[in-house]
Amino acid sequence: MTTPYSLRTPAELVAVQLAPQGERAMLEQVAARYAIAITPALADLIDPSDPRDPIVRQFVPDPRELESQPEELTDPIGDEAHSPVEGIVHRYPDRVLLKLINACAVYCRFCFRRETVGPGRGGLSRAALAAALDYIRRTPQIWEVILTGGDPLVLSPRRLRDVVGRLTAIDHVKVIRVHTRVPVAAPERVSPALVRALRGAKATFVVLHANHPRELTESARSAIGRFIDAGIPVLSQSVLLRGVNDDVETLGALLRTLVECRVKPYYLHHADLAPGTGHLRTSIEAGQALMREMRGRVSGLCQPAYMLDIPDGAGKVPVGPSYISTADGAIDGGLKVRGIDGRLHPYPPRA
Ligand code: SF4
Repeated sequence: MTTPYSLRTPAELVAVQLAPQGERAMLEQVAARYAIAITPALADLIDPSDPRDPIVRQFVPDPRELESQPEELTDPIGDEAHSPVEGIVHRYPDRVLLKLINACAVYCRFCFRRETVGPGRGGLSRAALAAALDYIRRTPQIWEVILTGGDPLVLSPRRLRDVVGRLTAIDHVKVIRVHTRVPVAAPERVSPALVRALRGAKATFVVLHANHPRELTESARSAIGRFIDAGIPVLSQSVLLRGVNDDVETLGALLRTLVECRVKPYYLHHADLAPGTGHLRTSIEAGQALMREMRGRVSGLCQPAYMLDIPDGAGKVPVGPSYISTADGAIDGGLKVRGIDGRLHPYPPRA
């Protein structure tokens, strides 16, 4: 489905037959609360004949977004409680998030910051950015700065070069990380000027958000390659989503395709408790079962860590399956370890 511009309203979605006319009134209610944007690059990937299209599920609004579950939270990972100054989230001692802008190229229906992102929600003012950088400058334990938002790569190369330059001048900041969906959502934005803007004296990593192997088109691969060829390693983060990547074949294909693109799978996130996203979440048990299937099925290079961001800001922890069994008791002080054959094996073998 080729569109010359990003789709941003229920009327546009109805016009291109991505939403039924009968749902339009409910989708207007969704749109009044949560932003919509589907770029031409992603609209191109939609198969209109597939009622379970994984791109549609990720980006086309759904009336079920109006149904909030009691456990869902407006600030699911507790950013606010850890924000000492505007634009900074300081949850772990040695790293901070620097939220440069609240806009994105696309708006994911499961977004954990869906209450705060959207077009026109703005970004850091000149003064707020100066205050955020000042916080980083006077906090010497900050080793890593994660540029996020929103999506920082919707900013111009000039703005990015300015921020990277000012961070580079802070001696104790050794690593700059950029979280983005732009290489898959709008690969044409990854211009040589944008890549040059991120290349500085500090170690710089791009962490790409991609959830389905179909997102890794030739254009996306070229965009990713432009970072890597410039000496900026690319890692990935994906969100485990019901009906998008929560089956063994799709998740395995996603992880392999990422590695084929020279991207190291880093995190598979359990979907956060964002409002109106219950229809897209799986259980942690289902996620653990998938991760168990991945082990042995796909190369160790392809293995991400399965992560849960504990609500209310208690931090991100791995919740993948455990291979050490304590349920059946130790044998003479040894352990029982579950192999990729699914059976328990004593360790040491003759303990
Ligand atoms: S790109 Fe990231 S911040 Fe933007 S809507 Fe998607 S998940 Fe949220």
